[in-house]
Amino acid sequence: MTDTIAAIATGNNISAVGIVRISGPDAITASDNFFRTVNGISLINAETKRIYYGEFRSNNNNLTDICLCTVSKAPHSYTGENTVELYCHGSPAILSEILNNLFSTGIRPALPGEFTKRAFLNGKMDLTQAEAVIDLIEAETVSAASNAAGQLQGAISKKLESAYTQLLDIITHFHAVIDYPDEDIDEFEMQKYIGSLRLILNELKRLSESYKRGKILHSGIPAVIIGRPNTGKSSLFNAILGYDRTIVTDIAGTTRDTVEEKVLIGNILLRLIDTAGLRKTDDSVEKLGVDRTHAVLNDAGLVILVLDGSSPLTGEDLDAFRSIPSDIPKIAVINKSDLPVLPHPDELNKFDIIKCPISALSGEGLDTLSDEIIKLFPDYGVDPDGFKTNQGELITNARQAEAISRAEVCINASIASLTESVTPDAVLTDIEAALTIIGEITGKTVREDIISGIFDRFCVGK
Ligand code: GDP
Repeated sequence: MTDTIAAIATGNNISAVGIVRISGPDAITASDNFFRTVNGISLINAETKRIYYGEFRSNNNNLTDICLCTVSKAPHSYTGENTVELYCHGSPAILSEILNNLFSTGIRPALPGEFTKRAFLNGKMDLTQAEAVIDLIEAETVSAASNAAGQLQGAISKKLESAYTQLLDIITHFHAVIDYPDEDIDEFEMQKYIGSLRLILNELKRLSESYKRGKILHSGIPAVIIGRPNTGKSSLFNAILGYDRTIVTDIAGTTRDTVEEKVLIGNILLRLIDTAGLRKTDDSVEKLGVDRTHAVLNDAGLVILVLDGSSPLTGEDLDAFRSIPSDIPKIAVINKSDLPVLPHPDELNKFDIIKCPISALSGEGLDTLSDEIIKLFPDYGVDPDGFKTNQGELITNARQAEAISRAEVCINASIASLTESVTPDAVLTDIEAALTIIGEITGKTVREDIISGIFDRFCVGK
């Protein structure tokens, strides 16, 4: 039998309101020991999902808080269990006193993600929806939240459920054929199954291809700042962030490693990455940093090349420009505009790239830089491929994307086998593997250790 758990759902900071959540068979009776509604109704007789105003009195009858309380009776609650929520004043002292009183009745502290894990185990949501809960809590942009909300409503589940049912249908038919070998598989059925498998494959492909965009929506566009040493890369990084995150000196080679921070430019989330710069060096540590710069460049979604507008351009500047992969949006920042401009316009013309004069020192030109970046991503949050973030159709989760790719491999193999008229049991192996993988994504067939790993990523109280 499950036990009863409780936790603060709103974190440990001082806030106007703090919520204590209790779930499990004893949630209502235990809370009833402490919460008195003003109109004298016991929580045991309280109406489900109604808000009651009252007092929380601790074990020694001390008044701890005046608060609100709701009772949700199983199975009509988030977890599917009896649940009580207390909306208290958000003092950490009040909230921990309330929790301690509840714990004195045998209720135990909830583990990270345990409420959502119970919701999953009680069939209130599948694994893709539970993962959407983390994405919603962690959403850093409105578009990311919108996509996660759509997934919480089952956008991914619905697509996978349809693939699951169709695969199951094919499997049951093949089993019938194997169990009754005298019945030849009808040619017509074979073509029908190849057709269904192709449709499933297309749907899975669409989903796995959405992951590239989903990852950007969830984690931000990797925006890599490159340039030769001392052009002002770290200064620009700090200026965009609005605080001194990295060390700025006039000693070349100070930034040895990549440094990364997230920042919102308009509605666009950037994963801004300051790099060690690009130059030939004998210093082994600096060389490692330069190698890493080349590595992050390959994964970049935006490259910001920093040039020093107060000194002549060099071969190193051109090398840095040429190191940017051709298909990646890029912008050149001509830094130090507070100093007299030195590069000749002809020199600058060698850089076929949008140019934006700024002073990382004074902040002049930063707004124009933001505008230029926004212009480079007109489709951010909107989708040109027909995926709707507001319907949760973009895969944002690495576990799901990886599993979908595995399922694609199995379905491809089964289509090949069917086309070559391989024996039914050989076809079945691949289709059954695809079915298991899809079940893994939604949680139908997933292993316990994977489930635990997923919910460990949650915060306590969710
Ligand atoms: P990095 O090696 O490319 O990361 O360059 P840093 O950000 O460390 O800056 C190198 C030097 O240039 C430091 O002395 C900075 O103060 C200076 N610097 C950076 N940006 C500007 C700027 O806009 N104007 C002026 N005058 N100096 C700057």
